[in-house]
Amino acid sequence: MRLVAPLMRKMMDEPSCQEVNQFLADYVEDNLDADVSDRYRKHVAHCDCCKAYLDQYQGTIDLLHDCRNCDLPDDLVEHTLEFLKERGVTA
Ligand SMILES: [Zn+2]
Repeated sequence: MRLVAPLMRKMMDEPSCQEVNQFLADYVEDNLDADVSDRYRKHVAHCDCCKAYLDQYQGTIDLLHDCRNCDLPDDLVEHTLEFLKERGVTA
């Protein structure tokens, strides 16, 4: 039984990449419970691929927010929406 506790702790502390990406949108929009958000942050801090994905997602969201405040070329906006659509994210 000695192995069970560390294993449980690992599962609690470290969500898988799949789990993390499932929460990506909610994390960015701050819709997660504090403890879930915390686990997410910890995972991304030491997982390069999830960090890159988060940065890319965050950058796209920021770009979309900026779109509402200034005039961007139509094709750039279209590009961004296409980018989101390809990843199954609806704007
Ligand atoms: Zn990961």
